[in-house]
Amino acid sequence: MKNSLLIEKAYHNGSFVESDKTFEVINPSTLKSIGSLPDLTVKDCQKYIKTAHKAFKSWSTTPVGERCKIVRKLFNLINEHRVEMAEIMTLESGKPINESQTEVDYANSFMEWFAEEGKRAYGETIPSLAGNAHLQTIKQAVGVVAAITPWNFPLAMITRKVAPALVAGCTVVLKPASQTPFSAIALAKLADMAGLPKGVLNVITSKDSKGIGKELATSELIRKISFTGSTEVGRTLMEQAASTIKRISLELGGNAPFLVFNDADIDKAVTGAIAGKFRNTGQTCVSINRFYVQEAVYDEFCSKLTAAVKKLQVGDGLKKPTQVGPLINQAGLDKVKEHVEDAIAKGAKVETGGKAITGLFYEPTVLSNVSPDSLVAEEETFGPICALFKFKTEEEGIALANDTPFGLAAYFFSENVRQCFRVADQLEAGMVGINAGLISNASAPFGGVKQSGLGREGSKYGLEEYLEIKYLCFGD
Ligand code: ADP
Repeated sequence: MKNSLLIEKAYHNGSFVESDKTFEVINPSTLKSIGSLPDLTVKDCQKYIKTAHKAFKSWSTTPVGERCKIVRKLFNLINEHRVEMAEIMTLESGKPINESQTEVDYANSFMEWFAEEGKRAYGETIPSLAGNAHLQTIKQAVGVVAAITPWNFPLAMITRKVAPALVAGCTVVLKPASQTPFSAIALAKLADMAGLPKGVLNVITSKDSKGIGKELATSELIRKISFTGSTEVGRTLMEQAASTIKRISLELGGNAPFLVFNDADIDKAVTGAIAGKFRNTGQTCVSINRFYVQEAVYDEFCSKLTAAVKKLQVGDGLKKPTQVGPLINQAGLDKVKEHVEDAIAKGAKVETGGKAITGLFYEPTVLSNVSPDSLVAEEETFGPICALFKFKTEEEGIALANDTPFGLAAYFFSENVRQCFRVADQLEAGMVGINAGLISNASAPFGGVKQSGLGREGSKYGLEEYLEIKYLCFGD
């Protein structure tokens, strides 16, 4: 089976390039190599940055209608190649093929959204407080953008950055995760076919994330860095970016709570829990990490959730009807094992699962009676584990949910409308799912508070991240 978008090259200045030094990309389902890519260096990175910088002048002054047309064309091309794109994604990330298909379409929805929204970078006219001066604002591209993306959404985390950057008039150096770089190169191929001018998008592939990251974060030529990944790396990039006072957007770790109140529709809550927990084998930054269930409905929720989890099919993502794939790598699997063992040692009961299967696969697991001092309460597990905690009052539930340095997504279930408003107002999170386990949407602002990040992606706010406001004062 030949996939024409599986290209073993990096993308620089409109050309697909090779290198003597390469690294292999492993399929986490089979542990076999899919192919290899150039292992580029900091020196190469400097070249990529210069190229993007050179392309900035003409791209930022290309009429916005033209920029949006190219992004719209890219949207159409991704649509035409959605099956090939999904296959590449499953091969490199292990996610079930239907999830990859959903991600390709979700990723592409940012192309569609920003191809439209890019045309609406409105400025303002402002009344002058004194004299007859005319005051107005215009919006202009920030400059060269560095985008650093993770492996859990190999395409969507890229398009969320690249689409608004391109329509705003920015040029881009993209460094995808070394575990899942093929989706990024496939996107570059389609962008090339869409007629994106040379140097506007450059994709650097490398195993040296630290070195490349530092170069991107400290380069004088780069004016903005947009990162999705761990809080730890986000903190490092923020420190490094301070040296040149860059604009910065960070989508970092979460530790999402999921509250089930006594007034919840339990069947709906179970459906929401499965969707919000097991997508991508629990490896998303908005994955539910802590289940807080109110006393009166605890037993019912626990038994219905356990029954639903037992039905999940685990396996190779390319084989139907797989619903849950492998963990991304050994470190990911080890963390899941550590969290489960720690919870059990502190008194948790295994309702189902609780063991590794083979390779990088782990059983979908439900743990009840989990102690609040367990690792799973404090850190993101990033795996197929449901950890259930009990609470008594609404106040206590909210306090437990907020007891974390993170604040990306939070979810709760209740049929009581007054409770819905009360709880939504008090949860410390950038996004709240109310009777909903899946919340991501290109038209809505995605982002976190506290140590989960800075800025918003998607929506009209996602465009602003790539625009500067310039104030013009016309004297009287
Ligand atoms: P994850 O746990 O999802 O792998 P990381 O934050 O480690 O999260 O990785 C997200 C992205 O950041 C990846 O592209 C990775 O290669 C890159 N990365 C890792 N370490 C650094 C670093 N020190 N500086 C810049 N980028 C990094």
